[in-house]
Amino acid sequence: MSAPHAQVERADFDQFMVPNYAPAAFIPVRGQGSRVWDQSGRELVDFSGGIAVNVLGHCHPALVGALTEQASKLWHVSNVFTNEPTLRLAQKLVDATFAERVFFCNSGAEANEAAFKLARRVAHDRFGDEKYEIIAALNSFHGRTLFTVSVGGQAKYSDGFGPKIQGISHIPFNDLDALRAAISDRTCAVVLEPIQGEGGVLLAEQSFLQGARELCDAHNALLIFDEVQSGMGRSGELFAHTHFGVTPDILTSAKSLGGGFPIAAMLTTTDLAKHFSVGVHGTTYGGNPLACAVGCAVMDVVNTRETLDGVKARHQRFRTALERIGQQYGLFSEVRGLGLLIGCVLADAWKGKAKDVLVAAEKEALMVLQAGPDVVRFAPSLVIEEADIDEGLARFERAVVKLTSA
Ligand SMILES: *Cc1c(COP(=O)(O)O)cnc(C)c1O
Repeated sequence: MSAPHAQVERADFDQFMVPNYAPAAFIPVRGQGSRVWDQSGRELVDFSGGIAVNVLGHCHPALVGALTEQASKLWHVSNVFTNEPTLRLAQKLVDATFAERVFFCNSGAEANEAAFKLARRVAHDRFGDEKYEIIAALNSFHGRTLFTVSVGGQAKYSDGFGPKIQGISHIPFNDLDALRAAISDRTCAVVLEPIQGEGGVLLAEQSFLQGARELCDAHNALLIFDEVQSGMGRSGELFAHTHFGVTPDILTSAKSLGGGFPIAAMLTTTDLAKHFSVGVHGTTYGGNPLACAVGCAVMDVVNTRETLDGVKARHQRFRTALERIGQQYGLFSEVRGLGLLIGCVLADAWKGKAKDVLVAAEKEALMVLQAGPDVVRFAPSLVIEEADIDEGLARFERAVVKLTSA
């Protein structure tokens, strides 16, 4: 039997873990703000934010406080009972958005699963068995359950698992004519990310989202926005769709909603929510008191003008430096994104080599992400200190110099 704090190392991953990930060579053991320390005591700057999750960095005092206070009160009761943190967080989300009703679950995939099931249920109840088709965008990402990979527009995630969920078609992102050609009265929902995250940090066009809204209305289809990555302040507004002035029928949130504690939510209207009547859908942990107490603390800090305006200022600081670095070394041809979801599109000579950039950055003690093979992605804490931005960018530039002069 192993001791409670047995020495573990990266090689243990390859020995004991299902090999579906390829984690970095170091093991993070501690984080504070936007700095992380590994087992050897090496300090790294974190521009990855746990893939757009650690919205307030590591160990933010408000989140540690909320979690530890709740930890000594009540951890879990199941949905046979409700609990105070659930009701508080639901109220905060309703107050802050178009939505009137909230369903809590534990991951982005589950929030989308709930959204897709709700859309099909609504169509079934209102229009009958023939209306079940879902239209999504190519290159979109909605999670890894069978339904969500079927809806997601990336064959690499959906192929090889036997028959997919039926009735799903894909159109190119931002192609309104293609959507117009694909939609029909059999369509129950159109699903879009206002900013495609995993697909390469690609912004929707206002006219595309607006047109999608109108087409959905004309065909009695629901418009679902997946804001699992773009939401909770990352764009500089609480949810990115408000930048475009287009309101969905169903909105999904996860990642930053818990700041590192697993929680997700599906938000919708009273009229649609009623189709999830007692027993129609559910999950054991959904609305768990620990998760919701943390979620409340996240909302209280993120949904303020100070934090959201701070995101816009930080975006500019990143963009100015990244555009200069891109031009100076020719590594990337474009810097895109909104708020603190930023993508550097690799120049032709570097296409497919985003992973090399990640590895080079790690050697300079910097954590960054990729979004597909051609885009280097930054999704740091929304309250990252200016000094950490500057230090991280200096490390990034050193990585770029080494990579481009090698
Ligand atoms: C990460 C992500 C998901 C899946 O979330 P999980 O918590 O990994 O299930 C779904 N949609 C988008 C847009 C995402 O970025």
